[in-house]
Amino acid sequence: YRLVGADADGEDRAVEAPLRPTDLDGFIGQERVREQLDLVLRAARARGATADHVLFSGAPGLGKTTLSMIIAAEMGAPFRITSGPAIQHAGDLAAILSSLTEGEVLFLDEIHRMSRSAEEMLYMAMEDFRVDVVVGTGLGATPIPLELPPFTLVGATTRAGLLVPPLRDRFGFTAHMEFYAPAELERVIHRSARLLDVAIEPEGAAEIAGRSRGTPRIANRLLRRVRDYAQVKADGVVTREVASAALAVYEIDGRGLDRLDRAVLGALLSLFGGGPVGLSTLAVAVGEERETVEEVAEPFLVREGLLARTPRGRVATPAAWAHLGLAPLPQGDP
Ligand code: ATP
Repeated sequence: YRLVGADADGEDRAVEAPLRPTDLDGFIGQERVREQLDLVLRAARARGATADHVLFSGAPGLGKTTLSMIIAAEMGAPFRITSGPAIQHAGDLAAILSSLTEGEVLFLDEIHRMSRSAEEMLYMAMEDFRVDVVVGTGLGATPIPLELPPFTLVGATTRAGLLVPPLRDRFGFTAHMEFYAPAELERVIHRSARLLDVAIEPEGAAEIAGRSRGTPRIANRLLRRVRDYAQVKADGVVTREVASAALAVYEIDGRGLDRLDRAVLGALLSLFGGGPVGLSTLAVAVGEERETVEEVAEPFLVREGLLARTPRGRVATPAAWAHLGLAPLPQGDP
């Protein structure tokens, strides 16, 4: 379990719903996406039509689910949620599609993880609002065409490049969600604090925002942990000192690195002089699986400009030395 992991955990799922903004104006950040989506939805409403299919790409926890719920709310349409891994057979998808009502917004999370046969059914459904349901097997198999009401598919994926082009091309609007700037996360934190009835000072919100890795889900999660600390160890008010002390308990540093991130970086600097060193060697040095280092710790370290992946191995940047308070070895030393 990681406090700074971006995927939703059980607690997030239980408490996130009331924290979601419910209209476009209440959605913080992602200015460009919001502006474009506003146009798409307004135009559809003016025509009295169903909104075009929308594809969101971007890291977990940036608000793809929230925005798709907003699309339904703005269109006054019902909303349904499913995910790629839940659709293993074309029949699973046919069952969902055939029960859609007119204008319904169908959110398909992790759309790149759908089975191939379901994907093919989806192209046709998106383009012609029609599916062929195959009845029977073998030589007796007969496709029965089924008309669907117009609906809006909202797909979400971590990378649009994971989708096959025929599927990608059937979205009328594609948006990439960026990580949030600290000032935007501060607004998310103030908004959530208000909804959760937590007293917070601007410096307290700034302290949490700086450690939230550009991700609203993480900001909300850290806010909850800081609130606990403020209640138990202070007078309930989240000041800079309280936020900082609370996150120190969870070993989340000023930049949002946790213990694993710092172990990887620390080993790279102190054992290998900043690299280059191979991934496997680095993993052994921190006592973790290769995959854990590569998939869990490295992406954020790379994004933060603390570590570089080079053909010769992993290399620390000057910022890494500064962050851990170490002096780089002079050039040319072993
Ligand atoms: P995943 O892909 O893991 O499902 P996601 O991109 O769909 O993640 P959401 O579930 O929409 O992310 O958002 C996670 C949490 O962050 C929600 O509780 C939501 O309230 C909050 N959040 C996300 N974006 C914003 C935003 N722009 N303003 C305010 N809160 C936000």
